[in-house]
Amino acid sequence: MKRTGGASARPPARGALIHYHEIALKGKNRSFFLKQLEANILLATRDLDCGPLKRLAGRLFLEMREETSWEVLRQRLSRVFGIANFAPAVMMAPDLELLAQRIEEEVSSRSFHSFRVAARRAFKTFPQTSQEINEIIGARVQRICGARVDLTNPELTIYIEILPAEAFVYFDKLLGPGGLPVGTSGTVACLLSGGIDSPVAAYRMMKRGCRVVFVHFHSQPFADRTSQEKAIELARLLTRYQFASRLYLAPFGELQQEVVSHVTGRMRIVVYRRLMLRIAEQIARKEGAQALVTGESLGQVASQTIENIATIEQASTLPILRPLIGMDKDEITQQAQQIGSYEVSIIPDQDCCSMFLPRQVATHTTHREAELAERPLDLERLVAQAHSAAYSLELSFPG
Ligand code: ATP
Ligand code: MG
Repeated sequence: MKRTGGASARPPARGALIHYHEIALKGKNRSFFLKQLEANILLATRDLDCGPLKRLAGRLFLEMREETSWEVLRQRLSRVFGIANFAPAVMMAPDLELLAQRIEEEVSSRSFHSFRVAARRAFKTFPQTSQEINEIIGARVQRICGARVDLTNPELTIYIEILPAEAFVYFDKLLGPGGLPVGTSGTVACLLSGGIDSPVAAYRMMKRGCRVVFVHFHSQPFADRTSQEKAIELARLLTRYQFASRLYLAPFGELQQEVVSHVTGRMRIVVYRRLMLRIAEQIARKEGAQALVTGESLGQVASQTIENIATIEQASTLPILRPLIGMDKDEITQQAQQIGSYEVSIIPDQDCCSMFLPRQVATHTTHREAELAERPLDLERLVAQAHSAAYSLELSFPG
């Protein structure tokens, strides 16, 4: 059999073969996207004994050591946005005979009744076409295992990828999380309550490539620390997707007391939300964040009618992103369970906005009404006080 590339002397290496969506890589963005993806993969695996991370045409290969646990590496890679799919693979010389021998070794330890070979030749000077490789390897596998070829629903798929200087063999292709690498879409500040929705909103923005700064408002000393502890735990869970986070804990209880003594009951929720946005905007600007994020979903509660959303958002000059706006509670809950935030979110707490809240809540407010309601308040002072009293926590993962 003819050999290619002269790379056959290199011993095979085990690692994770990582594919990303080519579609996200058009033009000048390519190198920016890839650098961030590489940086994120290295961050996600920095405490594991693996590397180097090799950049190859259209894919990445993260070498593993003998001791590296695939289970741990699998978990880490499944949270790096930008990865389309990945697999534990062997990297070796692009030599058909060596590939065939390696595949024979690998398949003889597996039990399967049907299989197919899916070869991809990424350069056209390799002596065989992809179809010829499929046939040659297929015949060899059949000879030693006796399994039948099934192109539509095989028990085992043998993947082969051939590049000019290396080839890869793998069997267990896993779906990555998709999306864009965190850090490629700028920074946003997410208003993180202890509820179910806002952690999911933060997750979805990370998946679109945003780095998320968290802002939580609490009512201490008028309430206990539960909501803050939940926010810290939620931010910690979400940090597994962006590797480093900052969480601001801002006191809101005194502002609420002022609102209670000056603002008619039905307008309070809208005024609370507008105050939250103003404080969050200051934090966002300090952090270089370009937008605010909330977990609002249209019609879910009184403060989330289209009129109230419009009235609330006028308090901020930054764009407000609401990734959950068209989702219903079941969809959001399902996603929260998948992220692992649901269990934390349902721990009972005293949410600052449910405290000091009257029975009747205005559902169709206007900007004018909100301004009138806010007139007795010294907004600038209240916002500045809460902003300067907020303190921040740094979280990192792994670590
Ligand atoms: P969530 O489940 O996120 O708490 P929700 O359905 O309870 O949302 P609201 O309580 O009306 O809805 O809150 C709407 C959004 O306002 C939240 O998704 C969140 O982004 C923000 N928010 C509410 N309370 C707080 C808080 N205490 N700290 C920070 N942000 C908050
Ligand atoms: Mg809530």
